[in-house]
Amino acid sequence: MSRCRWVYDNDVPGGKFLVPGCWNRTIYGDDAECQCREGPETIGDQLAALRKDVADLQRAIREGRNG
Ligand SMILES: [Zn+2]
Repeated sequence: MSRCRWVYDNDVPGGKFLVPGCWNRTIYGDDAECQCREGPETIGDQLAALRKDVADLQRAIREGRNG
């Protein structure tokens, strides 16, 4: 079973993100089952997915602060 891992980067909200990343672990934490897709991904695919995830997280954080 593949397992996403945390990558630490101060440039993203929260200072870390999951690679390749899945919502199950993003939302429910490290004890949740990893639901990352099996199989190889290109760096471009991963980058595109990460950029989307960062945008989603930024929006969620922004909405959380405003709400
Ligand atoms: Zn995962």
